[in-house]
Amino acid sequence: MAQRLRVIDNPAKLRRTIAQYRRAAESVALVPTMGALHDGHLALIRLARRHSRRVVVSIFVNPAQFAPSEDFSSYPRDIDADLTALAAVRPDVVYTPDVAAMYPDGFATSVVPDGPAGVGLEDTFRPHFFTGVATVVAKLLLQTLPDIAVFGEKDYQQLKVVSRMVRDLDIPVRIVPAPTVRAADGLALSSRNAYLSSEQRGQASILHRVLLLCAEKIAARRPLGTVLAEGREALERGGFVIDYLEARDAESLLPLASAEEQSIRLLAAARLGTTRLIDNLGVPSLTAL
Ligand code: AMP
Repeated sequence: MAQRLRVIDNPAKLRRTIAQYRRAAESVALVPTMGALHDGHLALIRLARRHSRRVVVSIFVNPAQFAPSEDFSSYPRDIDADLTALAAVRPDVVYTPDVAAMYPDGFATSVVPDGPAGVGLEDTFRPHFFTGVATVVAKLLLQTLPDIAVFGEKDYQQLKVVSRMVRDLDIPVRIVPAPTVRAADGLALSSRNAYLSSEQRGQASILHRVLLLCAEKIAARRPLGTVLAEGREALERGGFVIDYLEARDAESLLPLASAEEQSIRLLAAARLGTTRLIDNLGVPSLTAL
């Protein structure tokens, strides 16, 4: 019978386990998740394994990154299904702290990121989101002290916020980005896709198609303003209510100074009914064409 996965639910025990790995001179990778695991998460774990002897996957639905109006209480949680999915990739530790372990009574300190966290994308629509993310990721990194931590490009602004934070706070970890895993029709896998009705699931792939089309047009040097206006129209025709569709500098996430020289990332968030989808795509380098 397959060996059971090692599940640890508190920081002290996690530290003791990591200390054992360190005594054996083994490298450690952390893959933070909120559970409801899908193939996108599993790809992160496989990537972590390529870089590191030991892999810790955390599963924690972080209340600090949800606004009161958001889906914290209804966010999909199914630890048994998650452990079954993880059997395919066999992390060394599944770290499942509860809210009291992460935010004990009297908890009073937050990490408030700026820079890529304040460029007018997710931060405009979810004002407390990146403080919640930065705080919990800082805690998970300090609890685990891994050599690397893997984050998906699916959440591109988050990846940039976390990368900036570890540099700014001198947290000694390398942030490794992982490409977005998509369904056959292009929809980026996400735990929240489970909220979509079958009709909405049919519409949802339009988001990726619009990003692809915008990227092609920008690469063909069509004017940026026109490309984005056409993209927004196509999304609305497809039934989306748009939060944003923007082309930004791929590193700073600031608005483009010149589409000619910069590396460009398209980023979008849009809603189908009550479900909010986000996606992003790199534009092939203009100089490479
Ligand atoms: P979440 O559980 O949604 O907080 O995501 C945990 C990690 O998985 C984050 O680093 C996400 O960016 C990453 N992730 C989520 N969906 C995907 C996907 N479709 N492809 C690659 N990474 C993903």
